[in-house]
Amino acid sequence: MKNRAIAVFGGTFDPVHFGHLRAASEVSELLKVNDFRLLPAGHPPHREGTWAEAHHRLAMLELALAPYPDLAVDEREVRRDGPSFMVETLQSIRDEAGDAPILMCLGQDACNGLNRWHRWREIFDLAHLVVMTRPRSRPQYPEDLGEYIEARQVHRTRDLMDAPSGRIRHVEVTQLEISSTDIRRQLATGRNPRFLLPDTVLAYIHKHALY
Ligand code: ATP
Repeated sequence: MKNRAIAVFGGTFDPVHFGHLRAASEVSELLKVNDFRLLPAGHPPHREGTWAEAHHRLAMLELALAPYPDLAVDEREVRRDGPSFMVETLQSIRDEAGDAPILMCLGQDACNGLNRWHRWREIFDLAHLVVMTRPRSRPQYPEDLGEYIEARQVHRTRDLMDAPSGRIRHVEVTQLEISSTDIRRQLATGRNPRFLLPDTVLAYIHKHALY
């Protein structure tokens, strides 16, 4: 049976690739989430700048997910002006969600740097964290973040579903060593990144001469 949790998987998706998509699929299946959203960052505060404009990154996500109605795109950051901080995004989702569990999904590499996110402690007041394994990334938490995580760690899906926020679960997903950086690099040097991302996304990249 599906549950009423809302899962949010944020990223720059510059471009979206099978590492993102497979992880999203496995987490939604494992946690039996009915409402699973990929959420492209509009103006990522943690990045020096993105390569493709937000509307292109959104269009690529929509193409990738078109055949899969159980995985949705949440456009709120792309539609908003100014920097998008996850804590504010989660607050706006919480305003709509009542007391349903919100699951913020992120890869291990991203979680290792969570203490550099704007008002990161408040994230635990708004959502649970679901941390997905990623090749070349081990859990490596600075002291304050490590303590926070240790105190909130759970191992069962049930523990995420009987509270709206505040817990953290690490889950293993199939290890696909794919990154947007590598795809952009391949494209910039005239190589073909096919089979690392959906063909529809690759066709879009060529059509609009991105990267
Ligand atoms: P870049 O190379 O530009 O940094 P990326 O491939 O890491 O991009 P992002 O859009 O920055 O992709 O990542 C969004 C989220 O997806 C992050 O939480 C990241 O940890 C996770 N993620 C990205 N690639 C994978 C993968 N291959 N397996 C599991 N998680 C992934």
